[in-house]
Amino acid sequence: MQDLFAGKPYGKEALFATRMVSMAANLCREIQSEMVTQALEKSDRSPVTVADFASQAVVARLLMDTYSQDPLIAEEASQTLRVAEGEKTLKAVTAYVARIHEGAEPEDVCQWIDHGNGKTADRFWTLDPIDGTKGFLRGDQYVTALALLEAGQIAVGALGCPNLNHQLEPEIGGEGVVVIAIRGQGCWALSMEGKPLGKLSVSMISDPGQARVLRSFESGHTDSGKLEEITEHLGTAHAPVLMDSQAKYALMAAGKGDLLFRLLSPAQPGYVEKIWDQAAGSIVVEEAGGKVTDLRGNTLDFTRGRGLTENIGVLASNGRLHDDALEIVRSIGADRRQEGV
Ligand code: AMP
Ligand code: MG
Repeated sequence: MQDLFAGKPYGKEALFATRMVSMAANLCREIQSEMVTQALEKSDRSPVTVADFASQAVVARLLMDTYSQDPLIAEEASQTLRVAEGEKTLKAVTAYVARIHEGAEPEDVCQWIDHGNGKTADRFWTLDPIDGTKGFLRGDQYVTALALLEAGQIAVGALGCPNLNHQLEPEIGGEGVVVIAIRGQGCWALSMEGKPLGKLSVSMISDPGQARVLRSFESGHTDSGKLEEITEHLGTAHAPVLMDSQAKYALMAAGKGDLLFRLLSPAQPGYVEKIWDQAAGSIVVEEAGGKVTDLRGNTLDFTRGRGLTENIGVLASNGRLHDDALEIVRSIGADRRQEGV
């Protein structure tokens, strides 16, 4: 794996990010196999809570060691673990974290998690310890996503996808893949053990009638009605692929899907996308030859803090279909916030 990055600008950071997401994704997989089956019967969300915190703690700790000057903006905070009701969860999180950082104590774990409470700077990292929590609980797709941003641009993005197969197809139960992209250099897939699987490129499809649409599994994260309108306008023969998490961007980078719409959900018309949900996925698609903008065609602005406050939704594509897709989005009014819905 070192050879892939040796001597390249951001090569060290890319190697680090690859190792971090595969380590965290492996830990999540262990937690999923040890905790989820019994919990599902009780509609208990605790396994995903444990995995979320453990994943953030192990990555944050190594970031503190390796890039001590770089702030981290990550999804979780230790607050709920520090109160009496969180004691049991913190104990479970600490036991998992100690599999990687031997001797970890509950207080260390809380401090490492809270390292993720950083602010945007000229250079910073952003982490989603588990993206696709519903997928994690269902046994579907989920990822650990880590990105490095510098001077307002994503420099490196890594996705650890423990349930995706080496062909990056929609099926679940795969052997796991890591996808890594470096600005200006490309996008690659590796096995979870770090074996290079190949460079990725988006599809060549330019006919909207052939487009394969990727969408959230959770209807509450999108607008199913508008998405149906969009597929009608495209005239595509393919049914949308429903998938959780930024694994969708990994599929697109590998040419297994052509369009991805993050539309505003009617239930939450004011929703602002989070930087950790988009940074790694965006560079993965762009470096495989695709394009990512918001629903109006504007560049995603990662300099505004934890949210993409200057943007509305997201459109990712293989590039060739981007303008057609933007035009459809505009024509049905999906590029506007519907106040008071
Ligand atoms: P997905 O798995 O593609 O549905 O996306 C999962 C991400 O959607 C999670 O990380 C959440 O942060 C995010 N999310 C939560 N609520 C919404 C919403 N109303 N609209 C869009 N995304 C959301
Ligand atoms: Mg997420």
